[in-house]
Amino acid sequence: MTVMTNPVSVTQDLLRFNTINPPGQEAACARYLGDALSKVGFCCRYKELGHNRLSLVASIGGLADRLPLGFTGHIDTVPLGGAPWTKDAFGESLEGGKLFGRGSSDMKSGVGAFVAAAISVADELRNSAGVTMVITADEECGCGGAKQLVEDATLLGKVGALIVGEPTNNYPLVGHKGALWLEAVAKGVTAHGSMPERGVNAVYLVAKAVMALENFHFPDCKHRLMGSPTLNVGNIFGGMNINSVPDYARIGIDIRTVAGMNHDDVKALIQEAVGLDITLNTLVDVGPVFTDPKNDWVQEVFGVMEKQLGEAPQAKTVSYFTDAAILHQAYVNTPTVVLGPGEAQMAHQTDEYCLVDRLEQGFDGYRDLIRAWIK
Ligand SMILES: [Zn+2]
Repeated sequence: MTVMTNPVSVTQDLLRFNTINPPGQEAACARYLGDALSKVGFCCRYKELGHNRLSLVASIGGLADRLPLGFTGHIDTVPLGGAPWTKDAFGESLEGGKLFGRGSSDMKSGVGAFVAAAISVADELRNSAGVTMVITADEECGCGGAKQLVEDATLLGKVGALIVGEPTNNYPLVGHKGALWLEAVAKGVTAHGSMPERGVNAVYLVAKAVMALENFHFPDCKHRLMGSPTLNVGNIFGGMNINSVPDYARIGIDIRTVAGMNHDDVKALIQEAVGLDITLNTLVDVGPVFTDPKNDWVQEVFGVMEKQLGEAPQAKTVSYFTDAAILHQAYVNTPTVVLGPGEAQMAHQTDEYCLVDRLEQGFDGYRDLIRAWIK
């Protein structure tokens, strides 16, 4: 029997569920957590995302005048990748202070640590402001679980602050960039390849767009912590066969935005750059997440983590996005930090691992943050 207040054992149990996405199949993993949390008094509600797929919202406590502390984490993982693993990918390799497995850093250690921490102080939580944990399916393939949850505001409720347990080596981060993914489509007119003058070549149209985007400059919108926005053309498709004029071509554009930018304005600028021959379709639109480091709660988080890390955290952000970008549609303007025990550099790697010491440190930090919230 797993001791549910031991973050290493809980994480190891989570790794034993194969939740590689696609297809995800997070239901058994979600129920394992829900069953353990129910036993100590959490109210657990599930949201079905599809066959064998569940997200979980678990909450305890709650006062009329003070909102609960929120935690969020995803329980799906990316595939194992093409290279062979030398360690067990599903929780059986615990050696040399490292717990190996797909999702060990990204981010079953984060979920394991905050669930174990909340269970360890469950008795103190019942008549307090409380804790709400949003444990999602399908983060790795486009935040599907979080997107579904924000459509149901009664399920999510409100939280007074939010901790995203993604891997940060226990370093608290005050935000992350947003993402705007656009598909730019050109339509032409097909013709026989020997008579190109009779057609309109869609590949030429997107080629001009690509060149315009390589030289694209964002207007002055540099953020003091997040730096500058970025743009990358990630893929290009066009044409059916070599001896026809292509009547269809498209590119994928990945834009990462910083706090203060408006995505509608960005899209309009891109349209101007690529010209009116190109149609832009939005594939992903998630805003940046940023909390002023001077925020009282952020300062409290820095103070708690300084004790764990042995150094005073500085205000920093990261460029990848998290479920928080989606959850903020329900948790509007909620102070948020990204803080988790996983090794940031191990995410999605072959032989992914997390460090046992860091997992225990993360557990201690989360428990102290919960106690500070309810005092
Ligand atoms: Zn992750």
